[in-house]
Amino acid sequence: MTSSKFIYFLLGVFFIYSFETQAQQLSPEVARFLKVEPDTYFADRDTAFGDPYYGLKKLIYGNRRFTDDKSTRPRQTDSHLMDNKSGQAPFATIVGCADSRVPSEIIFDQGVGDLFITRTAGQVMAEASFGTIEFSVEALKTKLIVVLGHESCGAVDAAIKLPANPPGHIVTLINSIKPAALRVKAMNLPENQVLSAAVRENVIEQVNMLRGLEPVLSRRYQSEEVVIVGAVYDISTGNVNFIEETIISLPRYSK
Ligand SMILES: [Zn+2]
Repeated sequence: MTSSKFIYFLLGVFFIYSFETQAQQLSPEVARFLKVEPDTYFADRDTAFGDPYYGLKKLIYGNRRFTDDKSTRPRQTDSHLMDNKSGQAPFATIVGCADSRVPSEIIFDQGVGDLFITRTAGQVMAEASFGTIEFSVEALKTKLIVVLGHESCGAVDAAIKLPANPPGHIVTLINSIKPAALRVKAMNLPENQVLSAAVRENVIEQVNMLRGLEPVLSRRYQSEEVVIVGAVYDISTGNVNFIEETIISLPRYSK
């Protein structure tokens, strides 16, 4: 192969890869289950509050607006601030990473009063975050919880590399993510796939932890009052990829 042919070959691979990355936002299985419509950008806010499956679609359509450069920045004016003066009814709780590149309202194109958010590095959770999430479910009646990891997460990367003597409380973050990171390391994946796989594994583990968290979430989840799923945000494409395993393991999926 001549060098110019080789460059065209590489470009071809790149375009195929880019296209597939774009198309990966939802697996066909997930799209079918949630009845996600192609070329649809909007979902009703009140319906999303009452129905967590519809709420998921609202997040998916909002992220679609964001990636298609069609963000409307809804409910972000002064008057919308006043609308929420007497209370809030967020339709989703997002458990995300503190990373400055992952602002939930922007990547899901939502506004004031829409999302109840807790953010820590690696979306590591402890008592205060558990209480925060439980408050959203019990007091605010939020029925949808999304654990949102992201590609290139520094906290997950640290849990893979296990630096000696991390300063202060950073060790708490690393220890929390370490089990997922070690499982992925044991898979002997190519080096450039390890971080992505660990990000995903960490999210799945956190989803399972919340589904079993006594006494509030486990009960609400088992009675199907609350939906808890995981997703990974790709900071290079803007796509939020909902993790199929966390959708098809929902109780309603098998019915
Ligand atoms: Zn992160």
